[in-house]
Amino acid sequence: MSDMFHACSVARSRKQRRCDWCDELIQIGEPYEAYSWRDGGDFGRTTVHPECRAASHDFVASGGDEWLIGVITRGCCCERGDCRCNKAVEG
Ligand SMILES: [Zn+2]
Ligand SMILES: [Zn+2]
Repeated sequence: MSDMFHACSVARSRKQRRCDWCDELIQIGEPYEAYSWRDGGDFGRTTVHPECRAASHDFVASGGDEWLIGVITRGCCCERGDCRCNKAVEG
């Protein structure tokens, strides 16, 4: 279990970033959420789409622990190409 701190929401990204949940780009002008985390001796900073932040929150709340970046559908917890809910974004 990791600790989170310095969480923030940004309404308009000033540069292009990559989402650490779905591995899609966060374009300039799009909103994103970011937080720093600490897990034992590891530190990192995670940047995600707002809908991916919500999805990761649901994932952790339902007992999930680790995920593989880039195999998850944007905005939900399903594997890419195998989404079984209605939240998927095409592309
Ligand atoms: Zn995302
Ligand atoms: Zn899904």
